Amino acid sequence: MEKAEKENIVMFPFMAQGHILPFLALALQLEQKGHSITYISTPLNVKKLESSIPPSTSIRLVEIPFNSSDHGLPPDAEIIDDLPYNLVIRLLEVSPCLEPSFRKLLADLIDQQKGIKPLCIIGDFFFGWSADVAHEFGVFHAIFSGAGGFGLACYYSIWLNLPHRHNNDEKGEFMLPDFPEAGKFHVTQLSSSVLIADGSDPSSIFQRKCLPSWVNSDGFLFNTVEELDKIGLTYFRRKLGIPVWAVGPILLPVDGRAKASKTSGITPEECIEWLNSKSPNSVLYISFGSETTISASQMMQLAKALDAGGTSFIWVVRPPIGFDTNTEFIAEEWLPEGSLQRITDQNKGLIVEKWAPQLEILCHKAVAAFLCHCGWNSVLESLINGVALIGWPIAGDQFYNAKLLVELVGVCVEVAEESVLRLGMKI
Ligand code: UDP
Repeated sequence: MEKAEKENIVMFPFMAQGHILPFLALALQLEQKGHSITYISTPLNVKKLESSIPPSTSIRLVEIPFNSSDHGLPPDAEIIDDLPYNLVIRLLEVSPCLEPSFRKLLADLIDQQKGIKPLCIIGDFFFGWSADVAHEFGVFHAIFSGAGGFGLACYYSIWLNLPHRHNNDEKGEFMLPDFPEAGKFHVTQLSSSVLIADGSDPSSIFQRKCLPSWVNSDGFLFNTVEELDKIGLTYFRRKLGIPVWAVGPILLPVDGRAKASKTSGITPEECIEWLNSKSPNSVLYISFGSETTISASQMMQLAKALDAGGTSFIWVVRPPIGFDTNTEFIAEEWLPEGSLQRITDQNKGLIVEKWAPQLEILCHKAVAAFLCHCGWNSVLESLINGVALIGWPIAGDQFYNAKLLVELVGVCVEVAEESVLRLGMKI
């Protein structure tokens, strides 16, 4: 089939690595199945993605206008990963401003195709409004979630059944009224934004508008596996009354990701060479994802433990809470005195700044375990490679992913629950 004759699928992820990467992975799979893809993102994200799309594919990157400074955000803040945690909600809040441009972009696309409509629009779960726009043009709409079914089901139920701070018992335990299959929760299994939510805060306002709009879509695709995630998928089938499909696990091919992602603190080759010098199943990989981080004192304690212990490790270090995300690594301030030197001299660990080639690392036979924030992409990458998970959830659905993996699947041990620590709450 010629390029022009391929049926077009329009894809539109929210601006975060954990959304952009699985959307790109899905785009590559759909492209291999014979579709042409229009992949929409904001200008700077499109620029970053350009080098990761092989020119031979029919994936076309299209910029949607967005100027962060117009919305009370720092200049060029087009992705969550570059924002301090307190501004993440701002990027979410302003995202519906993309709607008129999205409508125009679709109209132009259909015009260019001489009236031929796209086969379907696949929008992010944070862009529930894109379903109405698709329907204005008479186009089928699906939501694609890079989050897992169980994690997103808990997230959905918790945000729509606030506040949980007040309706837990004296042990701090509660059930979700519309999701008893998820079992008992403890308040320590809630993110800090949920713990402080009272219904009138910006997160509650955003979620209460966004989540109910999912019902307007024609279908929900999850990057998950039915056997692993049946409880959450069944919840959404019941709640939304639309088809819900598990289409995972979908991962970006190793070579595509290095280019698609941020500038890495280390090349994949350097990482592999270092891992080749280690015995099988001997290395601990530590990363808290593309958005979240731990506090400076936690970093200090973790470094002390790694320095004192006998385990080899790769640790991706992002600036601790309270530091600008672009701050250069300050070993003297964030790590115990002399530890970086000792770790390097003994060839015991690799401390990688900001971004590591994660999938290459998890694929390597030397890696035994992953101390992980339980972001769903990281979870899938770990499980696919048979790497044991040690959970340290920090935000959002990560707590519920950890609950699934620890309590219902039994492939993870949890070592910390960040939000309660962060808020200094007494439970
Ligand atoms: N990632 C990576 N290198 C890093 C940190 C993250 O390649 O140093 C990738 C990781 O492999 C995953 C994605 O970024 O595909 C992060 O998604 P996840 O859902 O795990 O967490 P989030 O960053 O959305 O919290």
